[in-house]
Amino acid sequence: MEHKLSIYNTLTRKKELFEPINPPHVGMYVCGPTVYGDPHLGHARPAITFDILFRYLKHLGYKVRYVRNITDVGHLEHDADAGEDKIAKKARLEQLEPMEVVQYYTQRYHKAMEALNVLPPSIEPHASGHIIEQIQLVKEILDNGYAYESEGSIYFDVNKYNKDHHYGKLSGRNLDDVLNTTRELDGQEEKHNPADFALWKKAQPEHIMRWPSPWSDGFPGWHCECTAMGRKYLGETFDIHGGGMDLVFPHHECEIAQAVASQGHDMVRYWMHNNMITINGQKMGKSLGNFITLNEFFTGDNKNLQQAYSPMTIRFFILMAHYRGTVDFSNDALQAAEKAMSRLMEAYGAIGRIQPSAESTVSVAEFRDKCYEAMDDDLNTPIVISHLFDAAKVINQAADGKASLTADQIDELKSLFDTFLFDILGIKAEEGGGSGREEAFGKVVDMLLEQRAIAKANKDWATSDKIRNELTALGFEIKDTKDGATWKLNR
Ligand code: ZN
Repeated sequence: MEHKLSIYNTLTRKKELFEPINPPHVGMYVCGPTVYGDPHLGHARPAITFDILFRYLKHLGYKVRYVRNITDVGHLEHDADAGEDKIAKKARLEQLEPMEVVQYYTQRYHKAMEALNVLPPSIEPHASGHIIEQIQLVKEILDNGYAYESEGSIYFDVNKYNKDHHYGKLSGRNLDDVLNTTRELDGQEEKHNPADFALWKKAQPEHIMRWPSPWSDGFPGWHCECTAMGRKYLGETFDIHGGGMDLVFPHHECEIAQAVASQGHDMVRYWMHNNMITINGQKMGKSLGNFITLNEFFTGDNKNLQQAYSPMTIRFFILMAHYRGTVDFSNDALQAAEKAMSRLMEAYGAIGRIQPSAESTVSVAEFRDKCYEAMDDDLNTPIVISHLFDAAKVINQAADGKASLTADQIDELKSLFDTFLFDILGIKAEEGGGSGREEAFGKVVDMLLEQRAIAKANKDWATSDKIRNELTALGFEIKDTKDGATWKLNR
């Protein structure tokens, strides 16, 4: 089957056939976390969305270079150019070196991503390790006349840029919209125009994270890092740039302006954005009291949670929605996702119990094509999941003897789950939770039945009856057959 992957390009506002610049190579850049706090749900969604893209492109045979950065300098409290640096503030409050904060939260982020089965990117560059490249970018923009110096800081001249190019083309704004929605913040009087943004900031005496530059001791503006590092590792033009929808403006809009102002043309072919996550219909925020970190989800240790939710439950839940749709977290929704996922895992487990027949009574051939079709349609994971449920129905019927499948069909169903559920959607069996718990639990029942068989062989009827009666009281249905006992839990 020939694949024609279509993806929605935020820049052109339509689904486009994905055609890499230099096949089989694909360059993709995704904005990573600012590492000043524990990873939370807001981190899980872009990481999982672009993990699916990364996995699927590799599955299709592309050689993908996936760059996801770590922001460890220059992300100020009010976007790019006002307020204290987020890392420096945390370091000040905790009395740590800024790089201790960065190291600590980068490790926490990696651990959470590993738990979510998010594959590590090919390159994970730190902004603080690419100051030279960022200074170079600022120089080019200055040389081309799209920036100016003011009090030792360098600002992007949005007005000048907008005369030659369209500032706002990604977010669908024009300069008047931008000016109408720009807040006047303190300390901004250095700018010629409130829409201008900082490329380089002169550091105040109390500012710890600073580097020498031709203009001042200071630090780069937040938007610079992704333009500089994307170009360094993926080239002047590369295929895909992704991130959360909240980054479209100003971050990605500014990235486009910086790229065009420095090199004369766009850097990115396809811009992709995942939608946001809400909690019980509300935006997640510390001030709203509904802030839940990923670790709190995994342990259940948060007043908003009725129970712990395994990393795979979180992953499956996110994939049950299309990445461009909103996702609303609630205990009910997560519990439903947990049940749905374990139904798929149980069906996968039941494949081994199907007795092959010479003739089949059902068709399974279409599942694979349908799953590919859904993935090719802008990574439509909820549709893939619905096809897997249809396949699970067939598996369960066959396992219960209500349908017949040939040995080839049984192999095909197993391979369908291996490809789509495990390789592409990245779901895995979990130890001590989700399907892993089901599996361990099944093994314990098997062990008890083995003990009962031994007791019976020794004519120890008291023990044998006790095991049987107690399992029955717990809701198990035990059947003795000539090959030993089988069990079923009636819930
Ligand atoms: Zn970025």
